[in-house]
Amino acid sequence: MIHPHTELRFVDPKIGHGVFATRFIPRGTITWVRDRLDQAFTPDGVVQLPAIYHDVVLKYSFIDARGQFVLCWDHARFVNHSCDPTCRSAGYDFEVAVRDIAPGEELTDDYGSLNLEYDFECSCGLPECRLRVRPGDLISYADDWDRIVEEPFRNIPAVLQPLWPFLEEKAAVEAALGGKESIASVRRNYVNVAELLCGHPPLTR
Ligand SMILES: [Zn+2]
Repeated sequence: MIHPHTELRFVDPKIGHGVFATRFIPRGTITWVRDRLDQAFTPDGVVQLPAIYHDVVLKYSFIDARGQFVLCWDHARFVNHSCDPTCRSAGYDFEVAVRDIAPGEELTDDYGSLNLEYDFECSCGLPECRLRVRPGDLISYADDWDRIVEEPFRNIPAVLQPLWPFLEEKAAVEAALGGKESIASVRRNYVNVAELLCGHPPLTR
Protein backbone atom coordinates (compact mmCIF):
# COMPACT_ATOMS: atom_id res chain seq x y z
CA MET A 1 0.00 0.00 0.00
CA ILE A 2 1.35 3.34 -1.04
CA HIS A 3 1.35 6.35 1.30
CA PRO A 4 -2.05 8.07 1.35
CA HIS A 5 -0.54 11.47 0.53
CA THR A 6 0.31 10.44 -3.01
CA GLU A 7 -1.46 10.35 -6.34
CA LEU A 8 -1.01 8.96 -9.82
CA ARG A 9 0.01 11.49 -12.49
CA PHE A 10 0.82 11.20 -16.16
CA VAL A 11 4.51 12.04 -16.69
CA ASP A 12 5.05 11.81 -20.46
CA PRO A 13 4.40 9.33 -23.29
CA LYS A 14 7.76 7.58 -22.79
CA ILE A 15 7.59 7.13 -19.02
CA GLY A 16 3.82 6.88 -18.71
CA HIS A 17 2.48 7.45 -15.21
CA GLY A 18 4.28 8.05 -11.93
CA VAL A 19 3.44 8.51 -8.24
CA PHE A 20 3.65 12.03 -6.80
CA ALA A 21 3.42 13.45 -3.29
CA THR A 22 0.32 15.52 -2.60
CA ARG A 23 1.74 16.79 0.73
CA PHE A 24 5.13 17.03 2.37
CA ILE A 25 6.43 13.55 3.28
CA PRO A 26 9.35 13.73 5.73
CA ARG A 27 12.41 11.55 5.66
CA GLY A 28 11.85 8.31 7.56
CA THR A 29 8.19 8.05 6.55
CA ILE A 30 7.14 4.58 5.45
CA THR A 31 6.08 5.29 1.87
CA TRP A 32 5.04 1.78 0.87
CA VAL A 33 4.32 -1.43 2.71
CA ARG A 34 3.46 -4.81 1.32
CA ASP A 35 -0.03 -5.62 2.48
CA ARG A 36 -2.47 -8.51 2.34
CA LEU A 37 -4.28 -7.21 -0.72
CA ASP A 38 -1.16 -7.39 -2.89
CA GLN A 39 -1.24 -10.49 -5.07
CA ALA A 40 1.72 -12.87 -5.10
CA PHE A 41 2.37 -15.46 -7.82
CA THR A 42 4.99 -18.19 -7.95
CA PRO A 43 6.75 -18.43 -11.34
CA ASP A 44 4.55 -21.48 -12.04
CA GLY A 45 1.53 -19.44 -11.09
CA VAL A 46 2.46 -16.75 -13.62
CA VAL A 47 3.08 -19.34 -16.35
CA GLN A 48 -0.31 -20.88 -15.69
CA LEU A 49 -2.08 -17.57 -16.21
CA PRO A 50 -3.39 -17.06 -19.75
CA ALA A 51 -0.61 -15.45 -21.84
CA ILE A 52 -2.47 -12.14 -22.09
CA TYR A 53 -1.82 -11.64 -18.35
CA HIS A 54 1.95 -12.20 -18.55
CA ASP A 55 2.67 -8.72 -19.85
CA VAL A 56 0.75 -7.11 -17.01
CA VAL A 57 2.38 -9.22 -14.30
CA LEU A 58 5.89 -8.72 -15.71
CA LYS A 59 5.45 -5.00 -16.23
CA TYR A 60 3.96 -4.16 -12.86
CA SER A 61 5.30 -6.72 -10.40
CA PHE A 62 8.53 -7.11 -8.49
CA ILE A 63 10.08 -10.35 -7.23
CA ASP A 64 10.30 -10.77 -3.47
CA ALA A 65 12.87 -12.63 -1.38
CA ARG A 66 10.82 -15.83 -1.62
CA GLY A 67 10.87 -15.66 -5.43
CA GLN A 68 7.25 -14.62 -5.79
CA PHE A 69 6.00 -12.07 -8.29
CA VAL A 70 4.20 -9.41 -6.25
CA LEU A 71 1.59 -7.30 -7.99
CA CYS A 72 0.57 -4.31 -5.90
CA TRP A 73 -3.14 -3.67 -5.88
CA ASP A 74 -2.97 0.14 -5.73
CA HIS A 75 -0.95 2.85 -7.54
CA ALA A 76 2.24 1.62 -5.84
CA ARG A 77 2.77 -0.40 -8.99
CA PHE A 78 3.37 2.83 -10.94
CA VAL A 79 6.39 3.98 -8.89
CA ASN A 80 9.19 4.69 -11.37
CA HIS A 81 12.89 3.89 -11.16
CA SER A 82 15.62 6.35 -10.25
CA CYS A 83 19.31 5.70 -9.59
CA ASP A 84 18.98 8.21 -6.73
CA PRO A 85 15.47 7.38 -5.52
CA THR A 86 13.39 9.12 -2.87
CA CYS A 87 12.44 5.76 -1.31
CA ARG A 88 14.47 2.70 -0.40
CA SER A 89 14.01 -0.48 1.55
CA ALA A 90 16.22 -2.19 4.06
CA GLY A 91 15.75 -5.95 4.37
CA TYR A 92 12.00 -5.73 5.00
CA ASP A 93 8.77 -5.60 3.02
CA PHE A 94 8.41 -1.82 3.14
CA GLU A 95 10.13 1.31 1.88
CA VAL A 96 10.99 4.55 3.65
CA ALA A 97 11.57 8.07 2.34
CA VAL A 98 15.36 8.47 2.41
CA ARG A 99 15.02 12.24 2.16
CA ASP A 100 12.23 14.78 2.56
CA ILE A 101 9.76 14.61 -0.32
CA ALA A 102 8.16 17.92 -1.30
CA PRO A 103 4.54 18.25 -2.43
CA GLY A 104 4.49 17.60 -6.17
CA GLU A 105 7.75 15.64 -6.12
CA GLU A 106 7.78 12.17 -7.66
CA LEU A 107 8.26 9.13 -5.41
CA THR A 108 10.82 6.80 -6.94
CA ASP A 109 12.63 3.64 -5.94
CA ASP A 110 15.57 1.67 -7.30
CA TYR A 111 14.47 -1.19 -9.55
CA GLY A 112 17.90 -2.72 -8.96
CA SER A 113 16.56 -3.70 -5.52
CA LEU A 114 13.48 -5.44 -6.91
CA ASN A 115 15.01 -8.62 -8.39
CA LEU A 116 14.62 -7.70 -12.03
CA GLU A 117 14.40 -10.57 -14.47
CA TYR A 118 16.11 -8.38 -17.12
CA ASP A 119 18.68 -5.57 -17.48
CA PHE A 120 17.53 -2.21 -18.71
CA GLU A 121 19.18 0.98 -19.88
CA CYS A 122 18.46 3.85 -17.55
CA SER A 123 18.04 7.40 -18.69
CA CYS A 124 17.19 8.98 -15.34
CA GLY A 125 19.83 11.55 -16.20
CA LEU A 126 21.10 11.95 -12.64
CA PRO A 127 24.82 12.20 -11.79
CA GLU A 128 24.41 8.88 -9.93
CA CYS A 129 22.89 7.13 -12.97
CA ARG A 130 24.31 3.63 -13.41
CA LEU A 131 23.27 3.71 -17.12
CA ARG A 132 22.45 0.02 -17.00
CA VAL A 133 20.33 -1.38 -14.16
CA ARG A 134 20.94 -5.05 -13.48
CA PRO A 135 19.47 -7.80 -11.30
CA GLY A 136 22.86 -8.17 -9.56
CA ASP A 137 22.85 -4.50 -8.47
CA LEU A 138 21.15 -5.50 -5.25
CA ILE A 139 24.26 -7.45 -4.25
CA SER A 140 26.81 -5.06 -5.78
CA TYR A 141 25.39 -1.96 -4.11
CA ALA A 142 23.84 -3.42 -0.94
CA ASP A 143 26.39 -1.84 1.40
CA ASP A 144 25.88 1.62 -0.15
CA TRP A 145 22.10 1.29 -0.08
CA ASP A 146 22.13 0.06 3.53
CA ARG A 147 24.17 3.13 4.49
CA ILE A 148 21.71 5.44 2.73
CA VAL A 149 18.68 3.90 4.43
CA GLU A 150 20.10 3.68 7.97
CA GLU A 151 19.50 7.20 9.22
CA PRO A 152 16.04 7.60 7.64
CA PHE A 153 15.13 4.21 9.15
CA ARG A 154 16.10 5.48 12.61
CA ASN A 155 13.75 8.40 11.99
CA ILE A 156 10.73 6.06 11.73
CA PRO A 157 9.49 6.78 15.29
CA ALA A 158 9.92 10.55 14.87
CA VAL A 159 7.45 11.13 12.02
CA LEU A 160 3.79 10.36 11.33
CA GLN A 161 3.37 6.84 9.97
CA PRO A 162 -0.07 6.30 8.43
CA LEU A 163 1.07 2.95 7.02
CA TRP A 164 2.40 1.59 10.33
CA PRO A 165 -0.83 -0.37 11.13
CA PHE A 166 -0.33 -2.37 7.94
CA LEU A 167 3.22 -3.41 8.78
CA GLU A 168 3.59 -7.15 9.43
CA GLU A 169 7.17 -6.73 10.66
CA LYS A 170 6.56 -4.35 13.59
CA ALA A 171 8.47 -6.49 16.10
CA ALA A 172 11.55 -6.73 13.88
CA VAL A 173 11.50 -3.00 13.19
CA GLU A 174 11.11 -2.19 16.89
CA ALA A 175 13.97 -4.56 17.74
CA ALA A 176 16.19 -2.80 15.20
CA LEU A 177 15.16 0.65 16.42
CA GLY A 178 15.74 -0.40 20.03
CA GLY A 179 19.23 -1.66 19.23
CA LYS A 180 18.36 -5.29 20.02
CA GLU A 181 19.03 -6.27 16.40
CA SER A 182 20.82 -4.57 13.54
CA ILE A 183 18.74 -3.13 10.73
CA ALA A 184 18.30 -5.94 8.22
CA SER A 185 20.33 -5.45 5.06
CA VAL A 186 18.53 -5.00 1.75
CA ARG A 187 20.60 -8.03 0.71
CA ARG A 188 18.01 -10.10 2.52
CA ASN A 189 15.56 -9.34 -0.30
CA TYR A 190 17.81 -10.78 -2.99
CA VAL A 191 16.85 -13.79 -5.01
CA ASN A 192 18.77 -15.19 -7.98
CA VAL A 193 16.18 -14.66 -10.68
CA ALA A 194 18.06 -16.60 -13.37
CA GLU A 195 18.02 -19.67 -11.09
CA LEU A 196 14.44 -19.02 -10.05
CA LEU A 197 13.18 -18.97 -13.63
CA CYS A 198 15.50 -21.72 -14.88
CA GLY A 199 13.44 -24.52 -16.38
CA HIS A 200 10.33 -22.40 -16.77
CA PRO A 201 9.03 -21.61 -20.21
CA PRO A 202 9.97 -18.03 -21.13
CA LEU A 203 7.43 -15.47 -20.04
CA THR A 204 6.60 -13.02 -22.79
CA ARG A 205 6.88 -9.35 -22.00
ZN1 LIG B 1 19.69 6.06 -13.84
